Amino acid sequence: MNKVRVLFSAILFVCCCAGPAWAQPTGGDLLIRNITLIDGTGAEPLPNMSVFVEDGRISKITEQDDSPSGGIRVIDGSGKYLIPGLIDSHMHLPGGRTGPGNREMIMDTDTGLKVLHGFLYAGVTAVYDSGNHDNYIYRMREDASAGRIVSPRIYATGSLVAKKDGYACCAGATTMDSFEDGKAKLDALFANKPDMLKFTRDRRGMGPRGQDLPLIPDDDFSQLIRYAKDNGVRTTIHIADEKAARLAIAAGVDALAHPVFLADASTGFAEYVAEHGVVISSTALLFGAVGRVELDNSFFDDPLFTETLTEEELQFNKVTERDRYASSGMSGWMRGVLPAVLRNLKQLHDAGAIIAMGTDRLIGPMVHMEMELLAEAGISPLDVITLSTLNGAKYIGVEESLGSIEIGKRADMVILSKDPSVDIRNSRSIVRVIVDGAEIDRSRLDVAINHN
Ligand SMILES: [Zn+2]
Repeated sequence: MNKVRVLFSAILFVCCCAGPAWAQPTGGDLLIRNITLIDGTGAEPLPNMSVFVEDGRISKITEQDDSPSGGIRVIDGSGKYLIPGLIDSHMHLPGGRTGPGNREMIMDTDTGLKVLHGFLYAGVTAVYDSGNHDNYIYRMREDASAGRIVSPRIYATGSLVAKKDGYACCAGATTMDSFEDGKAKLDALFANKPDMLKFTRDRRGMGPRGQDLPLIPDDDFSQLIRYAKDNGVRTTIHIADEKAARLAIAAGVDALAHPVFLADASTGFAEYVAEHGVVISSTALLFGAVGRVELDNSFFDDPLFTETLTEEELQFNKVTERDRYASSGMSGWMRGVLPAVLRNLKQLHDAGAIIAMGTDRLIGPMVHMEMELLAEAGISPLDVITLSTLNGAKYIGVEESLGSIEIGKRADMVILSKDPSVDIRNSRSIVRVIVDGAEIDRSRLDVAINHN
């Protein structure tokens, strides 16, 4: 990054983000008229609807209402589509760690904020950070909920729970060997009020060279999950294979951070997941994007990416990261894994299991690629919208107040110019992003297009 750019960014940052004018707007009153409503519950689109927002909550939904607005802000939605704000149920906010293996702690909140703005720009109004450094992510969560930064809602796990020397053990994870060893460590994690606690249980690990990683013994693991439950903390888990997934579900986890990805799941697995009401983060794009970039990096040329990322960031992703994934064999391995992931997701969906859209990536616009992969798996566009909104709220456990356009819920919504229920690629046609009934000024977000 050259000096001029650094200076420019710094000035922009101060101008945009310091004054009260740029604090997170909250609790708006609003009327959106004459719009096609896709409410996120899976219901068919309803044309010519009016949606009223009072104090940041959806207060009334009626057929076309032309009565005087009583002085509240009115958006004319003619020819447009209203969907709930998108929710990414699996991401990791950059800015909290760095160095080899991400083992060093940093607090680069400017980087984090920029990424969060990229998510908002892409229509994402809530994210679940699925593993990060405690000090960093809880500070960002606090700043977001207090309205000190403009951000999607942040839900977070903080430190992962891993076996000593096990999968993802060493980038700020809390490691334990047994229930006795782990209990007090879980107590310390509970003190941070994680929105969910995330465990890892993966013997092989990611990538072309399989490992033989240790696991917390089955019984101890089950006790730890029960202990979290008894303390009112919901749990999710990174698994790779069906055996680990079944054990985790039997132990009582609320969610899986990935579908089974090492192989096709057996007959009956999808039904087992559905029966237990366990929510699964889709994360097809983890495999899809890393696999694809080696052969074709043109997805970074889509307007949502070029508007969000600087030329430098685009080059980093298109060349540096691409080369790293290609030379390590990760791209090829991920391409090999993707078909089973898509088949497993389709089976889960057909069996009535709850899938939540999640990218396991670091770039906001990628949610739209994840949604396209879900459609490619054979899930209808209307259902993909539910996966990307209401089911995200179910993953995090906040579906009582978020995730769909229903009376009483927080008014997090996105207005699109094209119909996403006929072609999911139309989810990219974002016109307005609304959080808590207040419109986000997309022209003031810290994204590349606003620096030109
Ligand atoms: Zn992840």
